[in-house]
This record gives sequence, structure tokens and C-alpha cells, in this order.
Amino acid sequence: MPFDPIYTTEHELFRETCRRFLTEEVVPFQAAWEKAGIVPRELWKKAAEVGLLLPTTAEEYGGAGADFGFCAVFCEEVMAANAAGAALGMALHNDICAPYIEKYGTEEQKQRWLPAMAKGDVISAIAMSEPAAGSDLQGVKTRAVRDGDEYVITGQKTFITNGQHADVIILVCKTDPERGAKGTSLILVETDRPGFARGRNLDKLGMKAQDTSELFFDNVRVPASNLLGEENQGFRYLMEQLPRERLQAAIQGLAAAEAALEWTVAYTREREAFGQKVFDFQNTQFKLADIKTECLVARAFVEKCIALQAEDKLTQEMGAAAKLYCSELQGRATDECLQLHGGYGFMAEYPITKLYADSRVNRIYAGSSEIMRLIVARSL
Ligand SMILES: Cc1cc2nc3c(=O)[nH]c(=O)nc-3n(C[C@H](O)[C@H](O)[C@H](O)COP(=O)(O)OP(=O)(O)OC[C@H]3O[C@@H](n4cnc5c(N)ncnc54)[C@H](O)[C@@H]3O)c2cc1C
Repeated sequence: MPFDPIYTTEHELFRETCRRFLTEEVVPFQAAWEKAGIVPRELWKKAAEVGLLLPTTAEEYGGAGADFGFCAVFCEEVMAANAAGAALGMALHNDICAPYIEKYGTEEQKQRWLPAMAKGDVISAIAMSEPAAGSDLQGVKTRAVRDGDEYVITGQKTFITNGQHADVIILVCKTDPERGAKGTSLILVETDRPGFARGRNLDKLGMKAQDTSELFFDNVRVPASNLLGEENQGFRYLMEQLPRERLQAAIQGLAAAEAALEWTVAYTREREAFGQKVFDFQNTQFKLADIKTECLVARAFVEKCIALQAEDKLTQEMGAAAKLYCSELQGRATDECLQLHGGYGFMAEYPITKLYADSRVNRIYAGSSEIMRLIVARSL
């Protein structure tokens, strides 16, 4: 894309590191990991060795103390490498899980978890969704009951990214169910505690190398000191952090649309039908021109949001608007681009096919498009 005003030389150097890591350590092995439904744990250690884990966490906690632009660069490169399933779990670990611990954790919690997360020794997950509560997080049923110096946790989570690998889970649960959302807390749960069990590694339409799991909590006892922040403030913390998560989803969506466009221009310039290049049909050019226009407009908005996030000023409305626009654009762009590949677009060996499948979830997770519209509508 022709303008990149927010990125500095440091961002571009980091981009090179991401690209090299993805090209050498991820892409050649991805097909095997997709079959396995999971990446090997060693991949996380390798990512840590080249500085890809926790780049935006403070240096005193093992991170690089970098700005949110580094998160954006990582997500852009993952999408450009068509490696969403293998590597977006790291983006969640870096820029969704770590910030909760860094922002709301005690000094002891930060020292215990963040350096180990930066080294790839500890993999994190965040468990909000339940079988009967996804969009409506107020309906969370998982319960934590205080018993002396401990919480006793009972409940079930589903669709949890990094669920098979996770060593620590940021658990969204009710500590005072009578108070609804205002009775929600976040508790750090170590996955080696008795009573904790992982369910199936879920079989999905796309993002096949990403482990996504059900999690079960059967009277799991954790020390009360595992509470993250204050009791019953969990919903407020979620509301504070979700715009960042949605911006991350927006960045992924835009980068996917840009990648689809680039691959399809290249493909249609080669492919011939009726004695001419497919690219030379006006229909092809109009479709691709529409996608390019939307990508340019989206990039200007997303970069504005990245700058706002770097100053901690991204609002609910802006985060939701960015995710809504970019994930819907991702859906349209990957669909139109697949169409322009003809039958080859349906064949697994073409990158557009995988990108199309991997893209579908972005209109659903981190808050569906319908929920994004509700949030934007609240500001009308
Ligand atoms: C691959 C994958 C990874 C995920 N990773 C995680 C994770 O790491 N942690 C986590 O906690 N969750 C995760 N999720 C869960 C995800 O956030 C939820 O699936 C999502 O929030 C939607 O919830 P639901 O599936 O229960 O759908 P539902 O809430 O049942 O929604 C069904 C449909 O109803 C619509 N709908 C719901 N409410 C309204 C409304 N008020 N108005 C209009 N329409 C509405 C929805 O938009 C949707 O179209 C993941 C999901 C997937 C698929």
C-alpha cells in the first residue's frame, strides 16, 4: 500500500524479523501442523528467541517496551504469510493476555507470569466464552466461590484459543452472580491445578493449526491472590481492553484483504481465458479496484486507530467500527478474490483458498459484526 505514515525504521526492522521467522520457521511446516491441529510448543520458544513474544510489555517484565505499532506489524506479517492458524495465538498471548496481567496484576503476578510468557515458557489464554454465553458475556455462568484464602471454581468454557497449550488462563467468572455483570471477576488459573481439564481440540472450518478448546473447571481451587485486579471489577476491565482486541482483529482483516488483492492481481495477470488475461476483463479490474479503494480507506482509518491505541485513547466505538469495517471487508475481498481464481480458488494448494477459510471467523470472534453494530449504534 502506498502510505505507511505511522511506521518507523524500528517497526520496519521488526517487520523483517517477523517475515524471516514466518518464512523459515512457520510456512514450511504449516501443512503438517494443520493436520495435527496444533503447532509444536518449540515454535513458541523459537518466537521468543527472536523477540516476537511480548514486544509491547515493559522491559522490566521481560518485554521490549515497544508501542502498539509492533503488534500491528506482527499481525500484518502473519496475514501476509498466510499463517493465521499457526501464529495468531501468539498475537493473542502478546497483545491481549499480557496487557491484562500488566495493567491489572499485582507486582508478584507480573513478575511471576510476564517474563516466563516473554520467554515462551508459559503460554496464555483468555477464557470468556461459554457454551451458553458468547456474545452476551453478562450471561457467564462459571462461578468462583471464596473459601478462606482460596477461590473454588466450577464451570465450563469453549472456543478458547491456545486452550490445549495454555499454562495459565485468564478466567472470566462470576464472584457475585446476583449482581450480573457487576459480579464478574478475572482470575488467573494455572492449568496444572486438580479439577482442571481440557476438552477436545476443536475441529474448525479454518485456522486449522490453531488449538481451540473446551475447558472444564470442577471445584478447581486457586489461592485468592490469583484474583486479577479487584473482585467484581472484571467486566470493567474487559470493557477497557476489548477495543484493543478489536483493533487487532481489524488489523488482521485489513492485512488479509490486502494480501488477497495482491495475490489475485498476480494470478489474473497470468491466467488466460477467451484469448486474453483474466486481469484484462473490465469486470476483474472493477472488482479489484473496489477492493483496493476499500483497503486504502480502511488503512487510513486503521492507522489512525493504531495511533490512538498507542496513546491509550481508542474508544469502544472506534475499536468496534474498525473491527466491523475491516472484518467485513476481509470477507468480501477474500470471497471476490477466490471467485477470480475460478476452480483453482477452491483447490487447497492456492493460498487464497486457505485465506478464505481462515478469514471467516473474524466476523464472529472478538465480538461478532452484529455486536460491533450494537456498540457503534450506542454512540448515535
Ligand atoms: C476460532 C475461535 C476462536 C475463539 N477464541 C476465543 C477465545 O480465545 N476466548 C474466548 O473467550 N472466546 C473465543 N471465541 C469465542 C467467540 O468470541 C464467540 O464465538 C463469539 O463471541 C460469538 O459468541 P457465540 O459463538 O456464543 O455466538 P452467539 O452469541 O450465540 O451468537 C449467534 C448469532 O447471534 C448474533 N447475536 C447475538 N446477540 C445478538 C444481538 N444482541 N443482536 C443481534 N445479533 C446478535 C451473533 O452476532 C451471531 O450471529 C472464539 C471463537 C472461535 C470460533
